[in-house]
Amino acid sequence: MIVIDGSHGEGGGQILRTALALSLVTGQPFRIENIRSGRRKPGLMRQHLTAVNAAKAVGDADVDGNTIGSQRFSFHPRILKSGKYHFAVGTAGSCTLVLQTILPALIMSDGPSELILEGGTHNPFAPPFDFLKRSFLALINRMGPTVSAGLEKPGFYPAGGGRFIVAIEPASLKKIRLNRRGEIIHGQAVAKVANLPLNIAQRELKVVRKEMEWDPSRLKAVAVDNANGPGNVLTIEVESDTITEVFTGFGERGVSAENVAKRAVKQAQEYLAADVPVGRFLADQLLVPMAIAGGGSYLTLSPSLHTRTNVDIIRSFLDVNIDIQQVGSEQWKIVI
Ligand code: ATP
Repeated sequence: MIVIDGSHGEGGGQILRTALALSLVTGQPFRIENIRSGRRKPGLMRQHLTAVNAAKAVGDADVDGNTIGSQRFSFHPRILKSGKYHFAVGTAGSCTLVLQTILPALIMSDGPSELILEGGTHNPFAPPFDFLKRSFLALINRMGPTVSAGLEKPGFYPAGGGRFIVAIEPASLKKIRLNRRGEIIHGQAVAKVANLPLNIAQRELKVVRKEMEWDPSRLKAVAVDNANGPGNVLTIEVESDTITEVFTGFGERGVSAENVAKRAVKQAQEYLAADVPVGRFLADQLLVPMAIAGGGSYLTLSPSLHTRTNVDIIRSFLDVNIDIQQVGSEQWKIVI
């Protein structure tokens, strides 16, 4: 049985999600220990437990140790089952991360699936729904499958209560190469507020307008009227010939609207200056689908610890070479 050390590298939740995704896809059972030992509250939080239980359902798996706070569990998948599923995190924990755990398996199963996911949809430190749809799923679709996602209700920290639906038409994943970004063909920014003054969104967009030198026609302030609690998110989207990247700023108590916007702008500007197609978050998330596809390559920014850790976990399940090399002052090439 494969044994995964959850304290390796980043020591966070991604280790167990990658292990679950690849165990489902390859049919190899595994045991994980020291779950999230790099985090302040180690063990399975609600988001991670929901991911384990979602993988259990999709893989008809035998699982031992799937309880809140658990720092180890074993997972033995039997058969992939496509179909209709409803997974609810039950807190503001990210439900986009739950989707990423089971998506590779459902893409490779023998029939279509329809999912309802509930929890946080716009969480700091997790892929926000807009990034998931416009950036990550757009690339998955380019690799072969047809995956559509629709947001019914945003879920912000701490109230949660978000909901989105996903429809999956399976197909085997094809190799893709993202080695040049090409011309920027469009850019836009959307600032959303829920149960907060619209003025917060307008102040954020003012910063984007000045710093990105974008025309006001590309900026939109939106008051969300169906969220459970307060929330604010700024999304900066950059579309080029080859890819759409999404950079997000999350409103936070004690952080001014201007600083929320500056954080997102900084990410977008770093990405634009480096002239790479794949941003830092997408870089760690593309590894699993590309490894399953049996190859691919991309040009990206300096690899995060998430990326390096994910490479090691992938190597525990798949016999793939993943090479990371610096090819320019701000450019790195990842070849699988
Ligand atoms: P933790 O153990 O840290 O509580 P977690 O389960 O929430 O963890 P991590 O292991 O830290 O997660 O993984 C977070 C994932 O979310 C990574 O794949 C990262 O690329 C992604 N992510 C974080 N922020 C963003 C963002 N702004 N846009 C897109 N993806 C993001």
